[in-house]
Amino acid sequence: MPPPNRHSDERETRLRIATPTRADPILVVCPSCNAKAFVLPAQPETEAVRVVCHACGFADEADGTARRYGWSAEHPTDGYFGLDLWLQVRCVGHTLWAFNRRHLDVLERYVAATLRERQRTDEGWRNASLVSRLPRWMTSGAHREDVLSALAALREKT
Ligand SMILES: [Zn+2]
Repeated sequence: MPPPNRHSDERETRLRIATPTRADPILVVCPSCNAKAFVLPAQPETEAVRVVCHACGFADEADGTARRYGWSAEHPTDGYFGLDLWLQVRCVGHTLWAFNRRHLDVLERYVAATLRERQRTDEGWRNASLVSRLPRWMTSGAHREDVLSALAALREKT
């Protein structure tokens, strides 16, 4: 097995976190009624995705090949439809956001346990490479309590 390439691994890790599954859809704000809507795979074996809102019945589809997201954006979107993420909260003057519960798990584990030990995350080098790119305000020890309570508030919204 070849040694992991840090650059391509980072890409892969980010892609995995930004890609919805049926168990972990991306949570977005419904463009029609502002309720919580879900971005999830449209069909197996393709990249196609669907957004559905159970509150108003809004639905749309995208082929999933064109994706755009800003990892340090102050107004982050789902990357497929350009919809606002549901999981957003202001925290120490910034926007803390996550795609879904799985993404919250990764952020929470890191912020709670590994601020002082960057190299030693439970997830090993995969998540280490992701979190090494988190904005500094999130990884600062001085903000740990604020970031953790913001993450807890987001979890309440999932
Ligand atoms: Zn709706």
